[in-house]
Amino acid sequence: MRVFDSHAHFDDEKFDLDRDDLIQEIHKNGVERIISAGYSLEGSKKAIELANKYDFFYATCGISPNDIDGMKLDDLRKIYNLAKENEKVVAIGEIGLDYYWNKENKEKQKSFFIKQIEIANELNLPIVIHTREAVMDTIDILKHQINCKKYGVFHCCPLNIELVKEALKLGFYISMAGPITFKNSKNAEEIINYVPLDKILIETDSPYLAPEPVRGTRNNSSNLKYIAQKIANVKQMNVEDIENATYNNTCKIFEIK
Ligand SMILES: [Zn+2]
Repeated sequence: MRVFDSHAHFDDEKFDLDRDDLIQEIHKNGVERIISAGYSLEGSKKAIELANKYDFFYATCGISPNDIDGMKLDDLRKIYNLAKENEKVVAIGEIGLDYYWNKENKEKQKSFFIKQIEIANELNLPIVIHTREAVMDTIDILKHQINCKKYGVFHCCPLNIELVKEALKLGFYISMAGPITFKNSKNAEEIINYVPLDKILIETDSPYLAPEPVRGTRNNSSNLKYIAQKIANVKQMNVEDIENATYNNTCKIFEIK
């Protein structure tokens, strides 16, 4: 059994009291690798710090659409440099559009998204996409405005079948998180069935989005088993096969040996 948490935020202050102990425990309990996702300049630096501290951690760096306030496009040079100078940065992300939390700066969000895809292309890296209530604009950018050289992943993919279909057509992977286990997520099963196993990643997005049956608690990578189990149930497969396949998919898209 090999388990890869493709997206988590162990730099979060919710882990300040027990971060190192918890990480060791998770690793001992079978989560073999973890990607620490950046979302701001500070967050990207912290993700890289974790990746440098633990050999089983990798990092992404990027500015999320909810962290662009007060930033200029020029500031993205810093993301370029961080990604270029640190070997364990495996992608640019999380980047994208979020009209749920921020409706007032859509044009700025779009320009930061596009610019960071350019950076990923320059560095030959895939991207990790965060998109919320912005399906049409996200797809429009990826389809008509800029090509992603190395494609990437829709992290915590919104459970929207049209988005999933377009994402797969464009060559992206779909990362499934806690919400696929939630009792009120109407179309989770349709989407799990639709996405071929060789395109699925799994993630916790810790400390957020703890899956059922631990929904509402501080999430950590040990809970990945509930997400894998849900996929296994729907696809009528063994949970070990889901864990192995998603582990291999994660290594493949992020070019981790
Ligand atoms: Zn995240």
